[in-house]
Amino acid sequence: MKRRELLKSAFGLTAGLVGMSALKPLYANTDLEFKADPMYDVPVTKVSDRCYYILAKDPEPTPENHAFFNNPGFIVTSEGVVVIDTGSSVQIGEMVLRQIKTVTDKPVIAVINTHYHGDHWLGNHAFIAQNPKLDIYSHQATIDNIKNGGGEFWVGFMQRMSNNGISGTVVTPPNKTLEGGEILTFGDTTVKVHQFGKAHTECDLIVEVVEDKVAFLGDTAMRRVANMADGSFPGTIETMKKAKELGCDQYILGHGPHDGKAICDDMQTFCEVIYNNAVKYYDEGLSDFEMKPKIMDEPFMKEVASTWPGYEHTIGKFIAVAVAEVEKNMF
Ligand SMILES: [Zn+2]
Repeated sequence: MKRRELLKSAFGLTAGLVGMSALKPLYANTDLEFKADPMYDVPVTKVSDRCYYILAKDPEPTPENHAFFNNPGFIVTSEGVVVIDTGSSVQIGEMVLRQIKTVTDKPVIAVINTHYHGDHWLGNHAFIAQNPKLDIYSHQATIDNIKNGGGEFWVGFMQRMSNNGISGTVVTPPNKTLEGGEILTFGDTTVKVHQFGKAHTECDLIVEVVEDKVAFLGDTAMRRVANMADGSFPGTIETMKKAKELGCDQYILGHGPHDGKAICDDMQTFCEVIYNNAVKYYDEGLSDFEMKPKIMDEPFMKEVASTWPGYEHTIGKFIAVAVAEVEKNMF
């Protein structure tokens, strides 16, 4: 690591130290003064009567977008608002709260974090600052990951990527657990929580809004080649089959525009092309870099996946992860 990066990442950690007494941050307070600039407003996209999200147009965190590259979502029920993922910073969480106000005056009554990657939960800080008793739900493994180093890692990562644009953000883990299979009722709205095994991470939650036939998929599906390091190819294929079986009309994603079940088909095909070819070429004794041009030559890759953000830079990593998974599944 270069000295400049080292300094930046050290600064990234101190940003996580900034705290408010109500928040019980994981680390002691050392810098109570500095908070990065507010996040600019991004308009709300309405998907159905109850379901909304805030579309992040960029696929990656940058200084210009304040690390806003994930879609926070929300469900407006007769009882109040249920938020699905809160963005990469306290500033983004505050922006989400402002955008909710453009749709309804109802209070936020719950938050669900779909998994432990920082763009999905660092904004929790803003919600707890507003209501210290708010229920923030996730899988237990998400909480464990955040508390055991993941929280610090993601603060540092977002700080580096945004040039310290998330300063002031306190690691604020979820405080309630879901494991999948729950049916939650919020007034007139039925929310089914699903966990279909390891897909993008070992603990992704999918949130189905029954009355609206909408599902929030988190990062289990996306048209973007970004991070499979914590995921599973066969697991994602299975999760996509089950997501389609929900029979929803619309699927809202962690990244990119919402879509019908075609998004599940695309993600399933993408994972099948990579994994099934990794199995085949592994048997033939090829290494991951020898497989790469052959897999990239598959029609789905050439015609579809190659248009997705991150493809050029990251497809090699995806193939390496697939080969590692092929090897692991042999024993
Ligand atoms: Zn994400």
